Amino acid sequence: IPVDPFDLVIFGGTGDLARRKVIPSIYRRFLAGQVPDGARLIGAARSDLDDDGFRDMIREAMDEFEPDTDRSRLDEFLALTCYIPVDARGDMGWETLKKVVRGDVISAFYFSVGPSLFGDLAEHLHAHEIIDGTSRVIVEKPFGHDLESAKALNAQLRAYFEERQIYRIDHYLGKETVQNLMAVRFANVLFEPLWNSNYVDHIQITVAETIGVEGRGGYYDASGAMRDMIQNHLMQLVCLIAMEPPNRFEADPVRDEKLKVIHALTQPEPHQVVRGQYEAGNGHASYREDVEDDRSRTESYVALRTTIDNWRWAGTPIYMRTGKRLSAKASEIAVYFKAPPHAVFEDEGARRQNVLTIRLQPNEGITLDVTIKEPGPGGMRLADVPLDMTFAEALEEGTEVPEAYERLIMDVMRGNQTLFMRGDEVEAAWAWADPIIASWTARGDMPKPYEPGTAGPSDADTLLRRDGRHWRSIG
Ligand code: NAD
Repeated sequence: IPVDPFDLVIFGGTGDLARRKVIPSIYRRFLAGQVPDGARLIGAARSDLDDDGFRDMIREAMDEFEPDTDRSRLDEFLALTCYIPVDARGDMGWETLKKVVRGDVISAFYFSVGPSLFGDLAEHLHAHEIIDGTSRVIVEKPFGHDLESAKALNAQLRAYFEERQIYRIDHYLGKETVQNLMAVRFANVLFEPLWNSNYVDHIQITVAETIGVEGRGGYYDASGAMRDMIQNHLMQLVCLIAMEPPNRFEADPVRDEKLKVIHALTQPEPHQVVRGQYEAGNGHASYREDVEDDRSRTESYVALRTTIDNWRWAGTPIYMRTGKRLSAKASEIAVYFKAPPHAVFEDEGARRQNVLTIRLQPNEGITLDVTIKEPGPGGMRLADVPLDMTFAEALEEGTEVPEAYERLIMDVMRGNQTLFMRGDEVEAAWAWADPIIASWTARGDMPKPYEPGTAGPSDADTLLRRDGRHWRSIG
């Protein structure tokens, strides 16, 4: 179903994010018939381009980032685009923008620029009367680098936009499997009765990358894995896995429940957090070489243990880990159920645990490990088999799983904030992360070195071994 006609202004329309993700995603929705003829995509950035120059840039971006996407309707799509040179910090372009943005269709403003420009953009949009109470603004991570800066960003946006107009993207929430996690939990009767500390032994959340800092060294080194991944993406996953059922699948009921989880998240003790930094090896440079700072103390890896201090989850540890230059690219949530209370069978396997794995990548899907009798005459020998729902296989052939950005941008046009972070959620997540980061600084902690292509520092294994558990293998 197409959305209503819209004007989408992309500030930073010539930047990496716009070329790599935002514009190609809208083109793919255009191909799917969701972008109506009355829609327009307005690039706005400091670069001195005209409409044709912007369109050439989009063609090149498609060649570079989307070589396999059908090109047959690209010219038609490009006819919906135009470009206006605009300076967020000066007067250039604003009057032209005002003339171009229509007042009678949905207007959305994608701030695909660094957060230091958010305030300037909002102020100019307001001063030139380009926005009204129906306009929407889309912002990206990083949403602040601590609680104080996140509050300041929220204040800058809220000076000119109501909370219902602000769409804070965490692209993890746009992933099909992440939404499926909610469907599995709340649209089936099977799991929810078991979804608590009586039956769940522990939960592991892993987001592993094989790449290093890849040219983003400066940005990453000022941030680190805690700020870049845990505070936002992994935190969102914890919320969705642990939240109470919302009374409706709508923005505020869902976000109210997520916020309660963040508030209930306990601070890990210092020995329950492991920081790591990759050293040189296996043909790769070290982190410090990558960021060109041989004294950097920034972590490229974090593993930690936390708990959720509420009735449902008391006593169920949540282990999170994320890092760069690990052995495989893999993101998943694994819910380990408790072993059966009594061993009916002699086979050791009878005490194995069911594990529900929600894979974000690769092969988006959900797997439930169940224990069955091994086929054959060898007596009651047990084995684990996966009940596997790989989306690519389960869905009708030709059904494409849309990319996170496609879904999220269309949600903005529909006015649906369910999969976007509310301001108070972001602040609560920083309020949890800040003391952990502060304690590293206070103690002058050095991250533990780890070899590229491995599962991270061995201290992370110790973290689970202390609890009599072990990490799943990555990938
Ligand atoms: P970039 O440096 O590639 O692009 C920045 C854009 O902002 C350019 O189009 C530039 O012309 C424009 N710009 C800069 N100063 C301006 C000014 N004064 N007035 C108007 N336009 C101005 O950056 P990017 O990688 O596209 O990132 C944009 C934002 O998105 C950043 O906050 C970044 O952290 C975030 N982000 C990027 C990615 C990614 O994959 N690149 C992913 C997640 C979040």
